[in-house]
Amino acid sequence: MIETALTTRFAPSPTGELHLGHAFAALVARDAARASGGRYLVRIEDIDRARCREEFVTRILDDLEWLGLSPDAPATRQEDYLAAHGDALRRLDAMGLVYPCFCTRAEIRAAASAPQEDGAGVAGGPDGPIYPGTCRRLGADERRDRIASGQAYALRLDMARAIAQAATRAGPLFWRDRNHGTFPAQPEIFGDVVLARKEIATGYHLAVTLDDARQGITLVTRGADLMPSTHVHRLLQALLDLPVPLYAHHPLLAGPDGKRLAKRHDALSLRHLREAGYSPAEVAAMAAAAPRLPEPAAPAGSGIWSG
Ligand code: GLU
Repeated sequence: MIETALTTRFAPSPTGELHLGHAFAALVARDAARASGGRYLVRIEDIDRARCREEFVTRILDDLEWLGLSPDAPATRQEDYLAAHGDALRRLDAMGLVYPCFCTRAEIRAAASAPQEDGAGVAGGPDGPIYPGTCRRLGADERRDRIASGQAYALRLDMARAIAQAATRAGPLFWRDRNHGTFPAQPEIFGDVVLARKEIATGYHLAVTLDDARQGITLVTRGADLMPSTHVHRLLQALLDLPVPLYAHHPLLAGPDGKRLAKRHDALSLRHLREAGYSPAEVAAMAAAAPRLPEPAAPAGSGIWSG
């Protein structure tokens, strides 16, 4: 069967040096595009100003060029599209799906671990305890006063209403992973997920979903740790009338300690490997042969049909 030409992307955050795991992720994206005769893009995910550093942007692009993994078009930066992210957030707000949440992390932990009226325990979501919805119940006047008084807040998606509206618009939602099969979308595992914050006008879920659509990404390749997030992205696609890409979540590489390869494994940063005299081909071979973490099991309750 002749495959359609796919557009893929590698989307690193400039919060540190690239390491062997990033090289693997970029190779997966590039090779999937090449195998289909498509395009491979790079997007710098730099919306979190407090954690991102300009020097890492330069190093990332330089490391990719050295590896022969420069994108087929100039790399883009998420921060250049903040206006579009804000427009989408206002659209969701106009649909009655967004509310400000003034709770601190400590308050959320305390509320989530308090005994529930029905005696049920509080479920943990992929990002921590599921938000108990305290601020969802605030009145319009109190919201306005607290914002006017300068209090910090997060903007949360009212998950139950969002799911109901998406079902009306698009019927049952599914997403397909080339490696893992087809999943019914279960965004409720996140509860009222954070879309943006007072000081950062967009967040990971909103920005990544909008940017993939804007860039015409038709195959999203990324680490298996982000698989649960795809449930939220599928919901946002339905609410914002965005195209639905195919997904391919790949395993994460393990470091020498058997844990996920990360910044602390400095010896496996591309900078160190370059300085130690390895060639780009040797680094690519090392990434392909490196030990991998076991893939996470499918989310509870999901039916999977072979993809
Ligand atoms: N920027 C994210 C990261 O560095 C990847 C986002 C994605 O691929 O969806 O982990």
